[in-house]
Amino acid sequence: MQTYTDLLTAITPTSGKTRTLLDPATGEAVGKAPVHDVEDLERAVAAATAAQPAWAALGHEARSEALLKAADAVERSAEDLAKLLSREQGKPLNGPNARFEVGACSAWLRAAAATELTAETVVDDGETHAEIHYRPIGVVGAIGPWNWPMMIAVWQIAPALRMGNAVVVKPSEYTPLSVLALVQVLNQELPEGLLSVVCGDREVGARLAEHPGVGKIMFTGSTATGKAIIKSSADTVKRLTLELGGNDAGIVLPDADPKAIAEDLFWGAFINTGQTCAALKRLYVHADVYDEVCEALTAFAAAVPMGVGLDEANVLGPLQNKQQYDIVSRLVEAARDSGARVLLGGNPDLEQPGYFYPTTLVADIDNNNPLVAEEQFGPALPIIRYSTVDEAVAMANGLDVGLGASVWSSDLAKARSVAARIQAGTVWVNKHGAVDPRIPFGGAKQSGYGLEFGVEGLKSLGVPQVING
Ligand code: NAD
Repeated sequence: MQTYTDLLTAITPTSGKTRTLLDPATGEAVGKAPVHDVEDLERAVAAATAAQPAWAALGHEARSEALLKAADAVERSAEDLAKLLSREQGKPLNGPNARFEVGACSAWLRAAAATELTAETVVDDGETHAEIHYRPIGVVGAIGPWNWPMMIAVWQIAPALRMGNAVVVKPSEYTPLSVLALVQVLNQELPEGLLSVVCGDREVGARLAEHPGVGKIMFTGSTATGKAIIKSSADTVKRLTLELGGNDAGIVLPDADPKAIAEDLFWGAFINTGQTCAALKRLYVHADVYDEVCEALTAFAAAVPMGVGLDEANVLGPLQNKQQYDIVSRLVEAARDSGARVLLGGNPDLEQPGYFYPTTLVADIDNNNPLVAEEQFGPALPIIRYSTVDEAVAMANGLDVGLGASVWSSDLAKARSVAARIQAGTVWVNKHGAVDPRIPFGGAKQSGYGLEFGVEGLKSLGVPQVING
């Protein structure tokens, strides 16, 4: 059986340029990743191109069986994968963190295997018979971020393979080891060359996006990089699924029960220490319940342990990198300088090693404050007071991104009617950020386009072909 050391050894380069990854909680070295260049990328695309036709020819059933075996392999190595993920990304083993993320990898592989996509008959009137089929695209490029590196890689890889494509993955330069290890485990059950990882910087990502041998890019990351990918993919008219940045609003209606919703509000905002695309990042609370919501949330948040990921007691961790730590610090300072009231946190211990920023709640803050208007992507939640639902909806819709949103109320029908007015790809009611492999997920406005998960997710990894006759 493969141990943690075996797993690390299997992905450690024996030659070429390397990068040492440091644990964001302690600064200790975790391991070394290769730094590939565009020639390595060419080799990976060539191997994928060679492996893809035989994989496509296997058919849906055999490919699904292979994905189920890959899910078994992930489960066999789950504890070692979670440990590596925790050390490199910083997220704790427990809570909705490293073990949860590895569990999601096998769940999404199984779901992709189980999802049926059959040809659709669109017209059959005796004269005309037309069907839509979904054919493999060929080689798919998968470019991912550092916040949920394994899970997001599987979100891209599993449906791509299921639909008969080969995949070249370009992980974030901050978390390559997690993705290398995951792919090493998946490849125990997949044909050679079909799935590979190229660990490079932006240049390698940009080359993947413009590569004539790649038919589609699955991209998850910031809106700025999404725009760069649209440009670099234009000459080859690539298909794109873009899951970009968000700044999700939550609206608490006056009839919500503050104590009952505090825990779910907290995890909606602070899952993965706030480093989640569809986390709650701006909370709008009606004046009638404002003080009680602030109080209940502060009481809950103050008791949630943050610390080194491998310590089983912790469920919040450090920021993954210095750049993100600086963004969160700057935004909280801007809020404080503007006169907003810091209810909790906002006072990082500068003597402590690691990029720990304490759980922070900021009240009495203006809607145009940078902590509200910019994506903080960390453990700091602004809480904005509102007086009318129209005002709250206008503020929620006031930004140019729209990934997720939520409405909190004791009246389901009322919550759903407010939800319908919010410009976001998903609006949750009395929860925030829950994803499910059966339910399509994607952004509105500049949070991207294209859907992942479920049948819609499979369709987006095929080329629709109409057979008319
Ligand atoms: P990022 O955009 O900086 O990087 C993402 C990936 O793109 C990395 O692998 C990077 O190397 C690569 N890249 C950078 N420049 C490139 C270029 N010009 N061409 C091709 N690839 C390039 O994002 P990040 O900081 O890693 O992730 C955080 C962001 O991702 C946040 O904005 C967050 O909201 C968003 N995100 C969105 C979702 C979603 O599902 N919508 C999920 C997770 C994260």
